[in-house]
Amino acid sequence: MKTLTIKRKLESMGVHECSVVLTDQSICIAGIAESLATKNKAGWYAAKFHTNVVNNIITDKNMRNEDCEHEQAISNELEGLSYDVIIIGGGVIGCAVARELSKYEISVAVFEKEYDVAVHTSSRNDGMIHDGFAAKPGTKKAYYNVRGNRLWEPLARDLGIQFRRVGSLILFRTPLNTILYPILANRAKKNNVDGWELWSKEKVKKEEPYLLDEQFGGFYLPSAGIISPYRATVALAEHAVQNGVAVHLLTKVIGFEMHDGEIVRVKTNRGTLQAKLVINAAGNWADIVAELANDKYFSLHFRKGTDIIFDKNTGKWQNHVAAMPNFLQIAEKTKGGGLIPTIEGNILVGPTATEIAERVDYSTNQDDIKELEKHIRLNKKLNLNQVITYFSGVRACTYSEDFLIEKSKKIKNLIHVAGIQSPGLASAPAIAEDVVTMSLQILSSRKHILKKDNWNPVRNTYPDLQKLNFKERAEIINKNPGYGKIVCRCETVSEQEIRDALHSSLPVYTLDAIKRRIRPGAGRCHGGFCTPRVIEILAEETGKNFSDITKKGYGSNIVLQSLEDHASE
Ligand SMILES: Cc1cc2nc3c(=O)[nH]c(=O)nc-3n(C[C@H](O)[C@H](O)[C@H](O)COP(=O)(O)OP(=O)(O)OC[C@H]3O[C@@H](n4cnc5c(N)ncnc54)[C@H](O)[C@@H]3O)c2cc1C
Repeated sequence: MKTLTIKRKLESMGVHECSVVLTDQSICIAGIAESLATKNKAGWYAAKFHTNVVNNIITDKNMRNEDCEHEQAISNELEGLSYDVIIIGGGVIGCAVARELSKYEISVAVFEKEYDVAVHTSSRNDGMIHDGFAAKPGTKKAYYNVRGNRLWEPLARDLGIQFRRVGSLILFRTPLNTILYPILANRAKKNNVDGWELWSKEKVKKEEPYLLDEQFGGFYLPSAGIISPYRATVALAEHAVQNGVAVHLLTKVIGFEMHDGEIVRVKTNRGTLQAKLVINAAGNWADIVAELANDKYFSLHFRKGTDIIFDKNTGKWQNHVAAMPNFLQIAEKTKGGGLIPTIEGNILVGPTATEIAERVDYSTNQDDIKELEKHIRLNKKLNLNQVITYFSGVRACTYSEDFLIEKSKKIKNLIHVAGIQSPGLASAPAIAEDVVTMSLQILSSRKHILKKDNWNPVRNTYPDLQKLNFKERAEIINKNPGYGKIVCRCETVSEQEIRDALHSSLPVYTLDAIKRRIRPGAGRCHGGFCTPRVIEILAEETGKNFSDITKKGYGSNIVLQSLEDHASE
């Protein structure tokens, strides 16, 4: 009876040849729709009847672009290896889980199909360690966000990365908004958020002198923080490696061999390996990985977000995250965007939220930029001349719009960590804790697991000159003049820091990987000045020709050939 009601409703929405199958584990809807909007509307409707929705509705567009950006070479280098745990995905989730698992006497590997960790959503976000206010009360998002927010500060210290609790300010657009305070406070209380305050117009003006005058105070959440999302992901991966985890890049999981309801072997483009436990942290591909294990009981849909990056010298005009939302939006599927200081001193404006058919679409367009302009007016000092670039990322969402973090009900040794949309970065350390608890439950039936005696809680790092004062810098430059040779003037990155990154525990020899670690090319000139020198250093360190150095792996070579080679042809 229920399936018939759902089917009728989907047909009325415009889904043709519709079928609805309801099982204990999920609701599966199928048919043909004219637009992505109809497909997603049908998915959200189905989610009212079951948390897990498999949406097999076909539209013209949603068959495109299923795969990743880079070709993976076929080899058998990993053939026959065996790990206790294989984690699929080198985003912030996979790397946080790997680091947490590295505390135990087990063998762990991360498989990442791209040339580096943090290539997808984990480097394409706003870097906010959200306070947890925006998540719907009672959801996993609310729980993991608040717990993750508490964990990030000590974790960042151990990882040797910067973290700043800047606080977040929701500005009131009318004097009437003030009466919403008890409702906002009640939501913050329900979510267990660490503190909230009502700020008067005068207090806002004092704390943020450059914010617009047409504000009527605000709701302030002091626990919101900021970090560099890509540096955090790299740091988690490096720390895991330093504690014994293997990270296999350019390694794509393409299938599983099953026996008696469990995964026995994991097939990759670099060979087939044994695993006692598999963790699916495959981000925008997590439903594909589930399907490979014949365990697809959820579908993902994709919500693109675009941000504008303002020049570094704008950061001094804003101390907190600030937004002036339409309060009706709080019940919607997006937090609505705003102005976010970055840990490096820029201001980010964004993000937008647009449903798209593709898993990967990092283009930026005029409509999104226009949409973001409404936030720019919040700060009187900002104008479009200070924009240095735009970027987009894509969130992986379930139709229930909540995280899916659980042991598979069908496959005994598989854990899914899927639908990790925002606030996934903020939640990562808390998600990792719970995934490790689940992992130990599964593994302990197969072997006795002890904690490592020699686990090192602090990541080994190289000097970060940005953190040092002039005297300290002078001392370090005296010892090694390479730290005094500035290669990237916008971000003040020295030659020795680039060489250090190439000798780290997870070295990756591409321009973007170096940028992700120490930021040459991330400033106003976008590498216009430093790129040739960075290519030279990469060539020196790897013994490769300039023409073999790439921006981001296969097919992204920058130099075609040397002039001498060209002349001799
Ligand atoms: C515009 C935008 C702004 C955001 N802002 C914030 C914010 O301020 N704060 C916040 O908390 N969250 C934010 N988020 C959300 C946050 O970025 C994500 O929740 C988080 O990065 C998800 O991490 P992940 O590890 O699940 O996915 P990913 O980073 O995508 O990692 C998954 C990895 O799995 C790999 N993979 C997939 N399939 C395979 C396979 N078969 N074999 C091997 N590897 C595979 C992929 O290549 C990928 O690298 C934002 C998101 C967007 C798009």
